[in-house]
Amino acid sequence: MIAGSPPSIYADDVDWPSFGEPPEGDQHVDVAVVGGGFTGVSVALNLAEKGYSVHLYEAERIGYGASGRNGGQLCQGWTTDFSKVAGRLPASDRRMAWDVGVMGRQIIIDRCERHGIDPDLRFGYLYGGLHQRHMNELQDMKDEWAGEGYKDLELLPDAAAMAPHINTDEYVGGMLDHGSGHLNPLKYLHGLAGAAKSAGAVIHEHCRINRIVPGEGEGASMLHHDHGVVRADRLVLAGNAYLDRTAPRMMQQRLAPVTSAIMATAPISDNQIRDLIPDRVAVADCNTALNYYRFDARGRMLFGGRASYLAQEGNDIRRDLTQRMLRVFPSLKGVEVEKTWWGRIGITVDRIPHFGKIGQNTWFVQGFSGHGVALSGTTGMILAEAVAGDTGRFDAFASIRHLPFPGGIFRTPALAIGMAWYKLRDQLKL
Ligand SMILES: Cc1cc2nc3c(=O)[nH]c(=O)nc-3n(C[C@H](O)[C@H](O)[C@H](O)COP(=O)(O)OP(=O)(O)OC[C@H]3O[C@@H](n4cnc5c(N)ncnc54)[C@H](O)[C@@H]3O)c2cc1C
Repeated sequence: MIAGSPPSIYADDVDWPSFGEPPEGDQHVDVAVVGGGFTGVSVALNLAEKGYSVHLYEAERIGYGASGRNGGQLCQGWTTDFSKVAGRLPASDRRMAWDVGVMGRQIIIDRCERHGIDPDLRFGYLYGGLHQRHMNELQDMKDEWAGEGYKDLELLPDAAAMAPHINTDEYVGGMLDHGSGHLNPLKYLHGLAGAAKSAGAVIHEHCRINRIVPGEGEGASMLHHDHGVVRADRLVLAGNAYLDRTAPRMMQQRLAPVTSAIMATAPISDNQIRDLIPDRVAVADCNTALNYYRFDARGRMLFGGRASYLAQEGNDIRRDLTQRMLRVFPSLKGVEVEKTWWGRIGITVDRIPHFGKIGQNTWFVQGFSGHGVALSGTTGMILAEAVAGDTGRFDAFASIRHLPFPGGIFRTPALAIGMAWYKLRDQLKL
């Protein structure tokens, strides 16, 4: 494994160009971005394209965090019901907020075309309903989205309607989103980072920022790392759940790190894939602690789930995920497992991403709550707009007040207790 690469199977599939060395000594930069995931790289790319001098600092290698190890499920929309997002904004921002929720897909398509990125992008996303409450929720979602003009949702009201799309007894029905899909996230991110470099952004890998001092008022911010200090006239914090205790306190208080794990099997024959998921759509069930899975371009089943609200990992990931996978597809019994890994998801109290500003010159977004593949690229664009002085969309989302997690530094155990109810509800199919 390349030092500093994410532990995911994607890391085995990509070439590892160095995107840039740590800086030698002190620097004074126009815009500094902390974090080399989808959010940070999108900010750097968008700002470099606008002609800004931008330096990105990544503690490990580009994609080390959630962006290089996620399920690759490209979901349209916000993490939570759109009505909840819209309800927190003035009516005049409703249309803008809807558009922001669904523009991530087109941004990815455009970026791939413009920069010649081939991240094995495929469309088709199946929601699996495990019982009637899920079917009611899917119907509500279809109605809500249709009301906003979204036409790509197809309700599959019963098991017979699901049968052409997936061969399992697990679901009573579901919904197919023809507009969402899946991709290899690390291939896409590497393509974006290459494009950012070509546009003039300077990327520093292996450069962990140990201390962040956001500028007060209009003052510059200071970033301390092992090789010196960066004085940044403008600063974007895009470290999300991996920024951890380095983040300013008000950001820490509003983000809880939870873990999700993924297992990749050895490649499965085309015939067997055709029998299980003929159109190779991505699938997620409707539980709170959901299973999400897909076949990747090499025919490996990538099966994810097992959100842990205690943010701890044991060595039973493989057993747990195998059991979950065999429940859905008993015919995969005995299939070889190539790799398991896990990563940190940053969630907010209400599952709406937390946009914010510190002083006049520090911007951040965190907490995509497990739904960042499409949304983080859009957010990177909105952050870049704000840095460039076009603050309309950023300010609208930053006006949403985010509550700190109850429990302070003990917030994760408190969250675990709260989530136990939802898991029980999933198990009892209430
Ligand atoms: C296992 C897993 C599965 C997921 N599956 C999906 C999915 O299928 N679909 C979906 O939409 N979303 C999914 N997500 C969520 C999605 O991956 C994230 O929302 C998204 O990648 C967040 O991107 P980001 O750039 O904001 O953060 P990250 O990708 O986490 O990037 C942050 C970067 O900042 C760097 N960093 C942190 N602190 C510092 C520091 N002090 N100095 C320098 N650098 C620092 C980190 O090393 C990291 O590379 C999943 C997440 C996980 C963990």
